[in-house]
Amino acid sequence: MFTLQSLPYDYNDLEPYITKTTLEIHHDKHHAGYVNKLNELLAPYEEFADLELEQLLKQIDRLPDPIRQAVFNNAGQVYNHNVYWESLAPKSKSVISDRFEKIISHSFSSLEEFKKVFSNAGVAQFGSGWVWLSVNLEGLLEVEKTSNADTPLIRERKPIMVMDVWEHAYYLDYQNRRPEYISSFFEIVNWPLIEGKYNAAVS
Ligand code: MN
Repeated sequence: MFTLQSLPYDYNDLEPYITKTTLEIHHDKHHAGYVNKLNELLAPYEEFADLELEQLLKQIDRLPDPIRQAVFNNAGQVYNHNVYWESLAPKSKSVISDRFEKIISHSFSSLEEFKKVFSNAGVAQFGSGWVWLSVNLEGLLEVEKTSNADTPLIRERKPIMVMDVWEHAYYLDYQNRRPEYISSFFEIVNWPLIEGKYNAAVS
């Protein structure tokens, strides 16, 4: 049984950038819905009951044909949302260290340039999807966008930060103005946690 990961902050902690109503619906309805559907799909298949979420995604080829795509979609969405909630923090905690800013600048020439690359990927993503910052096999940082439930985890990347660009992530707060949501996202990035994930990924 997979369980819904709790939000690491209160529903109103990300306001005004992301409202309480959006977080309630996004976490308690959308994210919870993917967890429930995943459990429902796997219920008849005891042999997969003990797999961790990341292992399930990496070993998706083991799943029987009739449920493989649906399991991937729902497991991917559960995993992607777990990383998304951890990528965010209240504004007061969204402070990047000098050390991590240098690391980002090493790959993207500056923090501002990184934000531009990441934001442009979010604007350019056609339809539903995600924008990722991951550590690749060479230990380098990469920005990548994925569609629907896809995740860089299955391509041997170590994802350390993600932005949800499905409409349900921003439509109540920003309607069709995805670029405004993206600039708000950068007000509430959980830099300390992302730096910790980076350290773990390269160690
Ligand atoms: Mn979402």
